[in-house]
Amino acid sequence: MPISEQDEGCALADYVVVNLMMFEATGRRDYLEDAERTQVNHLFMNQFHTGGFGHRAFATDVVGGKKWQGWEGRFGSENPGCCSLWGCWSLGQAASFIVTRQGNAVDVNLYPSASIDLPDLAGRLEIESDFPRLSKIALTVHGDRTMKYAIRLRIPAWAVGAAVKLNGKDAGVAAVDGRIVLDREWRSGDRLDFAFGGGLRLVPWPDEKSSTAAVFDGPLCLALSSAAADVDRFAKLLVTSQGGLLLSADGKPQAADAKGETISAFKPIAEDWLSPDVKNPNRLRILFTKQTR
Ligand SMILES: [Zn+2]
Repeated sequence: MPISEQDEGCALADYVVVNLMMFEATGRRDYLEDAERTQVNHLFMNQFHTGGFGHRAFATDVVGGKKWQGWEGRFGSENPGCCSLWGCWSLGQAASFIVTRQGNAVDVNLYPSASIDLPDLAGRLEIESDFPRLSKIALTVHGDRTMKYAIRLRIPAWAVGAAVKLNGKDAGVAAVDGRIVLDREWRSGDRLDFAFGGGLRLVPWPDEKSSTAAVFDGPLCLALSSAAADVDRFAKLLVTSQGGLLLSADGKPQAADAKGETISAFKPIAEDWLSPDVKNPNRLRILFTKQTR
């Protein structure tokens, strides 16, 4: 890519897992960011309603459509020869990185709803969240007895601040190096509730000065789908004179056509997997030309 006309679920699965392995080897948070961004956007977009993974036709601005179909379209865009197996393998691999350990400390890195045993601490963590959006997360500690250790919560790079409550009260801790650390005696039933600030934003691409940009909501890349609009016509994105998103009266990003007509039907690209017609996938516009209004 971008020369190839198709992407592949297997490559996306590998990219997620190799970034998680690099995080484990180096402790660098940018590997976690790349793994999460690829998983919840590109990999999930390549999972279809059958549960299998596969391919999408790929350009830098619009993905999808019927341009590439395996086996003359008999199986749609799903690739049961490799991607459907390898994509599921990657989800299992990612599960082992939700929580990692540094001595006694418990690093919480990813936030899908999960139950994680901590046998050496005679305990268990339960995560409940609205994954993949990650606007609201609860983490509950369960244990056979009171134990002292640190829970180190990852604050995603896209988040603008994080409000953490411990048993309903402001925990009063600030993030340091992308982590909020709570080092204390944990009792069974102790509960952390946290919400990451920051949501809708413009992401210029391929670099900060580009006239083209995508729209993100938290970790999720948004797109305009051919199910809702003519994606060749609505190729502009309204921005303010300061360069931020110009939102509609009800707080939504606005795509525009050459005549200035607007549409606000943005959705996370990964939500399109529910489109039942895998043999003729929707086309998704991801990259827009910025238009000041
Ligand atoms: Zn494959």
